[in-house]
Amino acid sequence: MTGWVEVPDGSPFPVTNLPYGVFSTAEQSRRIGVALGEDVIDLAPLAEADGLDIARELALPTLNPLMAMGRPAWSAVRAWLSDLLATESRRNVVRSHLVAAQDVTLHLPFEVADYVDFYSSQHHAENVGRLFRPDGEPLTPNWKHLPIGYHGRAGTVVVSGADVVRPSGQRKTPAEEAPSFGPSARLDIEAEVGFVVGVPSRHGAPVGVDDFAEHVFGVCLLNDWSARDIQAWEYAPLGPFLGKSFATSVSPWVVPLEALTAARVDGPAQDPPVLPYLRRQEPWGLDLTLEVTWNGTVVSRPPFAGMYWTPDQQLAHLTVNGASLRTGDLFASGTVSGAGKAERGSFLELSWNGSEPLTLGDGSTRTFLEDGDEVAITAWAPGADGTRIGLGSVTGRILPAV
Ligand code: CA
Repeated sequence: MTGWVEVPDGSPFPVTNLPYGVFSTAEQSRRIGVALGEDVIDLAPLAEADGLDIARELALPTLNPLMAMGRPAWSAVRAWLSDLLATESRRNVVRSHLVAAQDVTLHLPFEVADYVDFYSSQHHAENVGRLFRPDGEPLTPNWKHLPIGYHGRAGTVVVSGADVVRPSGQRKTPAEEAPSFGPSARLDIEAEVGFVVGVPSRHGAPVGVDDFAEHVFGVCLLNDWSARDIQAWEYAPLGPFLGKSFATSVSPWVVPLEALTAARVDGPAQDPPVLPYLRRQEPWGLDLTLEVTWNGTVVSRPPFAGMYWTPDQQLAHLTVNGASLRTGDLFASGTVSGAGKAERGSFLELSWNGSEPLTLGDGSTRTFLEDGDEVAITAWAPGADGTRIGLGSVTGRILPAV
């Protein structure tokens, strides 16, 4: 189904994608848009022209009310829009509500409620284990029994393009006698995929693995900026804190689950078998290929399909104790790392803890981030009808410590 719409070859946003975001222009305040090729569809006036009740939710400056409406509403809006884009006689109506993407400012697309970050790539967990516990088993004893995660800081989730100020904090290497305070010298990224919750759940009532698609609205890209030196000194015994909470960047477009139907794959076999509440009912692995670019040089292509824990299992685990979901909850996969060296999703792994510097396109070398460095993470997936769809990108630039 392509209809009358012409989207440039290689665009991440063909008619089979239709991701949601929030945009503004010089003349227009924040409202919901859908990315289409090199344009953004101004959704609310288009829906109003068609007499849709949902035009009210689409005119709001955040996706949360739309996301709270649930899967039947999400499907109805997508079907309506797909139909419009396939109907030649509606061409002029749609065209009158297109805004050139180059003329818009993209905003944080949803109000982030709670934020959870997991740790679900076996390759990443083993790499980190080998680096920090060289004499022990690479995986902790619990790793294959539950998706490990921590609760992060929702208020510092920022949209792609926002600058990131280098954090300062306490650091202490094992060789040093006492901690010192100062700017992080080991600032890193973590290339991840984020899942955005639309439908809340009742406090006390776990969400089963088979209810994943009823609660989760869509998928974005996420960069979990990480200050390794701050993290290493503070994390025992309670886990990540200030080494992570200064900033987390997300991509501006949320790709609906329905756009990713062709990307769904079985997760890897799990041995030992997982407990019953974590048993997968449907394939929610996703065949996404991420790409990490450092100052314009591609340094890694992490594959998402091999992630050991899938997002349906993560959601079931996160709520199994009765913790409730809120509209706007964001949970991230954890660093996506594949088996290959060029498939690692953090500079910690790519530079093997700083011992193997990377050479960028301009001839300079890097282990961790320098002030002024810019990182972009993009991703692609198989879309419907043999198309390829993109998740867009999440970018950020490092500013000097204050
Ligand atoms: Ca992370």
